[in-house]
Amino acid sequence: MDPRIARFSPAAASRLVVKIGSSLLVDADGRVRRDWLAGVLDDLVERHAAGQRLVIVSSGAIALGARRLGLPKGGRACLEDAQAAAATGQIALSQVYAELLHDRGLTAAQMLVTLDDLEDRRRFLNASATLDRLLSLGVVPVLNENDSVATAEIRFGDNDRLAARVAQAAGAGAVMLLSDVDGLYTANPASDPAAAFIDTVDRLDARIEAMADSRSGSGLGSGGMVAKLQAAKIANAAGAHLAILSGKVDRPLRHFDRTGRGTVFVAGGGAKPRKAWLAGRLTAKGRLHVDPGAAKALREGRSLLAAGVTRVEGRFGRGDVIEVWTADGPVARGLSAYSDDEATKLAGARNDAQEAILGYAPRSAAIHRDHLVLL
Ligand code: GLU
Repeated sequence: MDPRIARFSPAAASRLVVKIGSSLLVDADGRVRRDWLAGVLDDLVERHAAGQRLVIVSSGAIALGARRLGLPKGGRACLEDAQAAAATGQIALSQVYAELLHDRGLTAAQMLVTLDDLEDRRRFLNASATLDRLLSLGVVPVLNENDSVATAEIRFGDNDRLAARVAQAAGAGAVMLLSDVDGLYTANPASDPAAAFIDTVDRLDARIEAMADSRSGSGLGSGGMVAKLQAAKIANAAGAHLAILSGKVDRPLRHFDRTGRGTVFVAGGGAKPRKAWLAGRLTAKGRLHVDPGAAKALREGRSLLAAGVTRVEGRFGRGDVIEVWTADGPVARGLSAYSDDEATKLAGARNDAQEAILGYAPRSAAIHRDHLVLL
């Protein structure tokens, strides 16, 4: 298999984020293009059966809602219009996904997130835990920005970057942006006949960035190539490959598998950014002292469970950076799933005893292995 295509296969990427752009989803009369979407979901069903877990980031709420409400400029004339359009369009959009996925034997879940939800470390962790659980249950999460509450200053505004951040949160190895363009060209192909197609980007540098045009081709979405390149940067830094593919064909994922058409941004090796971010931290808010068994489990790549914690030091909240210590000194650093108070109460307790201690069920690990680096 062409290595460009293989990077997105179920064998290479156990989790894949697929972003679907507004102009692909909503037709000129403001209806959802159900047949086309059904084809995309058929592609996803095949991948799901092959073991890949899928996250959909779907645009289209504003475009759909604007049509239904008869709002000008695709609902983007002002923030209030966009918010009303999004609220109206989103409920229709979720219904379509729920139905079409159900028809194919899959369960849909909806998550609407704001920029802050993913920028704030604690909320990022919450979203990440939810995504993780949904994926482990074989559910297909469908995400969009919560445009009805997001305000102009604090929103992604485009689902390209949102998809990349979601990939980070979901621990996905690959992202596909289905778009009204089939990839990156050296210049805007609409205005420059000499524009050449680029099929692989190994290094996203200033030379590549200079090729982008910020306008969205269709005028329906808000993506544009600049946002797509930013998405590629975020995804690649998180260790996820990203592809810009044309969604203007039926069964676009199958089309990519057969033709390889699209621009693939290859993620470099090295540490995942969450880990790099953690490893680069200079301070920690607290310490969990652990027994030798827990320290061994960490070295084997497992999560830290409360059962292995012997003592808690410091004041910290969920999502804060803390260190893990043995009698010999620090062994790991990670993001705490508990507050210091919870950690103190749970220290030494096995998972099945924890709900009784706290009165509610806590996260299953004190530090999840995805949020932990060994020192
Ligand atoms: N969140 C917007 C919507 O659902 C789309 C953003 C974008 O165009 O990328 O309509």
